[in-house]
Amino acid sequence: MIDRKLFILAHQIGCHKFYSIYKKLIHSQWKSYFEQKKDQEKQLRYMISYAYKNVPYYHKLFNELKLEPNDITKIDDLEKLPILTKDVIKENWGDFKPFNLKTMKYYVNSTGGTTGTPFKYRLLKYDRFYSGAMLYRGWGYAGYELGDKMVLLAGSSLDIGSRSFIIKKAHEISRNLRKLSSFDMNSEDLLKYAKVINSFRPKYLRGYASSINFFADFIRKNDVEIISPFGVFTTAEKLLPKMRRNIEDAFGCDVYDGYGLNDGGVSAYECPEHNGLHIDTERSIMEVVDGTGSQMNEGVGSILATSLHNYAMPFIRYDTGDLGCISEDVCSCGRDSRLLENVIGRQHVGDMLQTPEGKFIHGMFIDMLFDRVDKVTEFQIIQTKIDKIIIKIVPKDGFDEKQLDMIREIINRKSNQWSIEFRFVDKIERTNAGKYKFIISELI
Ligand SMILES: [Zn+2]
Repeated sequence: MIDRKLFILAHQIGCHKFYSIYKKLIHSQWKSYFEQKKDQEKQLRYMISYAYKNVPYYHKLFNELKLEPNDITKIDDLEKLPILTKDVIKENWGDFKPFNLKTMKYYVNSTGGTTGTPFKYRLLKYDRFYSGAMLYRGWGYAGYELGDKMVLLAGSSLDIGSRSFIIKKAHEISRNLRKLSSFDMNSEDLLKYAKVINSFRPKYLRGYASSINFFADFIRKNDVEIISPFGVFTTAEKLLPKMRRNIEDAFGCDVYDGYGLNDGGVSAYECPEHNGLHIDTERSIMEVVDGTGSQMNEGVGSILATSLHNYAMPFIRYDTGDLGCISEDVCSCGRDSRLLENVIGRQHVGDMLQTPEGKFIHGMFIDMLFDRVDKVTEFQIIQTKIDKIIIKIVPKDGFDEKQLDMIREIINRKSNQWSIEFRFVDKIERTNAGKYKFIISELI
C-alpha cells in the first residue's frame, strides 16, 4: 500500500494529472471499439485544427493540397494526407515548431539508433506522462497494479541512463523498481542478477526480448535457481515464438509482449488470452497501411502514428518505420480494441516480399509453403524487382519438378503480377555473417 502511494506521488510530482489520466484509462479499456473510435475522431479533429493553426508545416501542406481542417474529421480521412517520413521532418524541422511552443513544457527526445540514424523530436511533458499511464494500464492486462515490484533488464533507451547514482536510487525506490543493465551480461553478472531477483522478489520482470531470452538461456543451461514472477514483459524487439517458450520455461510464468513508441505515441499490449497486442486508442491513432498508403483492416503493412496529445510537435501519419500485422479478430478477454498480431521492425523488412499492389508478404508464408514441398535441401527467394521473384532450389535426388507449378500457383495467389523464375543450384550462399537467409529483398 505504501509502495503504491509513493509510486503515485512520485508521478504526481512530475505531472499532477497523472493519476486522473490513469484512472480514466482503466475505465476506457472496456469501451466498445466504436466508442473508442468516436473519442479518437473527436480528438483528431481538435488536433488537426490545432496543427493547421499553429504549425507552419501543416498549414502549408493543407493549403498545397487544397484541404481545410474540416476535411479531416474521421480516421478514414487521414488517407487524404501524405505519409510523414523522418526525412520530411528533418528537412522541415523549423516548420514543425508551433507558434505557441513557448507556453508548453516539453522534452527534446531522440529515437534510438537501432533502426537508422537517431532522430530528434519534441515530446510534450503531459504526453510523456500520458504514455506512462498507458504503459501501466497495458501491464495491468497481466495483473500489474501501480507500485508492484519490478525488475528491469535493459539498456539505455529503457531508462538506464547516465543519471547520478542518488537520483537513480531515488527513482528505483519511489517506483519499486530495480534496474539491471543488459549491456553487461557475462556469467558473473547474470548470477548476480539472479541473486537480485531472488532477494527483491519482483512481481514482474521486464526488458528487451533478446536480453531476457539470453538470461533465460543462462538460467536453464546452468540450473540457476530463480523465483517465478507473475509475468515477464518484453518490449522493443520482435519476440519470436521460441524465445517466448524459452522465457516461459525459465521463469515459470507467462510472457506479455508490448509495443510502444514515444515518437508518434502508438502502443499496444498483450492480455492473458495472448491473441495479439491490444492497440491503444487514447494517445494516438495507429494506421496499418499498404504500399500505396491505404488503410488495411487485416494483414501486414507499415505502422503509421498520428499523435492526439503531443502539441509540442504533432505527427500526423508519421511513418514509424515498423511493420505490423493487424487482425480483424476480436479478443475473448472482453476488450474490444483492435489487435496487432505481430510487429516487425524495419530491420526485418528485407525478410519480406512486396507485391506490386503494395502488400507485404511475411517470410513465414514462404516457410510454410516450402514445408509442403518434398525433396528440397534448401531454398531461397530473391525479390529483384517489385514484379520479379527468383526462387533458388537445392534439390535432393528424386525431386519432382511438377511441384514447381504448385509453388508458382500458391505464390501467385498473393500477386499474379509477379513473374517467378526457378533456378536449381548446388548450394545457397551464406551472408557475410555466415547466415542462411531464405528471403532476400533487393528492393530496400
Ligand atoms: Zn485480450
